[in-house]
Amino acid sequence: MKYLEAFRDGGIARTLAEALRREVQPGRAYAFMEFCGGHTHAISRYGVEDLLPPELRLIHGPGCPVCVLPTGRIEQVLRLALDRPVTLCVYGDTLRVPAAGGMSLLKARAMGADVRMIYSAMDALALAQREPVRQVVFFAIGFETTTPPTALVVREAARLGLSNFSVLCCHVLTPPAIRAIAEGGEGGGAALIDGFIGPAHVSTVIGTRPYAPFAAGFRKPVVIAGFEPLDVMQAIRMLVRQVNEGRAEVENEFTRAVTADGNLKAQALMAEVFTLREDFEWRGLGILPRSALRLADAFSGFDAERRFGLEYSPIPDHKGCECAAVLRGVTRARDCRLFGTVCTPETPVGACMVSSEGACAAYYAYGRSR
Ligand code: SF4
Repeated sequence: MKYLEAFRDGGIARTLAEALRREVQPGRAYAFMEFCGGHTHAISRYGVEDLLPPELRLIHGPGCPVCVLPTGRIEQVLRLALDRPVTLCVYGDTLRVPAAGGMSLLKARAMGADVRMIYSAMDALALAQREPVRQVVFFAIGFETTTPPTALVVREAARLGLSNFSVLCCHVLTPPAIRAIAEGGEGGGAALIDGFIGPAHVSTVIGTRPYAPFAAGFRKPVVIAGFEPLDVMQAIRMLVRQVNEGRAEVENEFTRAVTADGNLKAQALMAEVFTLREDFEWRGLGILPRSALRLADAFSGFDAERRFGLEYSPIPDHKGCECAAVLRGVTRARDCRLFGTVCTPETPVGACMVSSEGACAAYYAYGRSR
């Protein structure tokens, strides 16, 4: 905590806010997207927007691992849990994400499906080792942050020769998602965005280099930021400077954890165990080519989609839910007409109200002034 508190200092935050006020050009509007749900929660929780000059607007992005999984994927894992003799291991956030008709993994468990909440990929592997009569399936989700631990357990399962362990792999990649936002597909608001606050944890793995092509190609500056409020404010200041100076570069505010190259060992591990999917559907961004991972051929024996012959079919969201537009940054959570009435954390209608990184959950828990 000692080291974190230094990045939450109110006095320094006010000094930074004053500096920002001096640097924004009067009459000019600035809009920056915080890609990551962790930033959305930091901004809401610490009231960062209340300190910003009125010329500055923050837009939340699609960087929430649970939120970007489309309803079809939730339905796919539900069918696996309900129709096959498996023990399904999932991270807690996925349990309550609504599928078609308000069904969820939590409800599936109440109906008798063997669904276990786990804290790490290693928990799923340990369960498979402890109970060899069970077919244990790990529902692997998340961006590049959670992908290396999945790779580790797959490699370990191969080393142990486990025949009762497999992975339903829904790991997704950050750069294609930012590119999709920058390109403005699927009704995105790219023209409104002057730059990106880049993700923290993801960048510790992939480094800063992968952002360079679209920063230059789309003339959108990117500043990688840590998850503390002063990190976010400093990143905003760096973005304002880039915009004022007509630059569109990748800069790194989070130098205490992120390097240009990232974690090369983790990258090598991911390259060994996974390969790119041709296409993958994202909630809000549609089908993005080469934006997600599946197990490489050498590890295909651990691929739950192959082992259980799982098919994928897209399924529309609840018709009143605006999650797709919220994830593209074109609608704010509180502008959804279900927000806070029909849809609450106790009665979520969409994924963005369930996840600890969801924009609707952040708005609901802390409010947000703009
Ligand atoms: Fe979806 Fe609920 Fe958010 Fe509306 S408030 S966009 S229904 S999650």
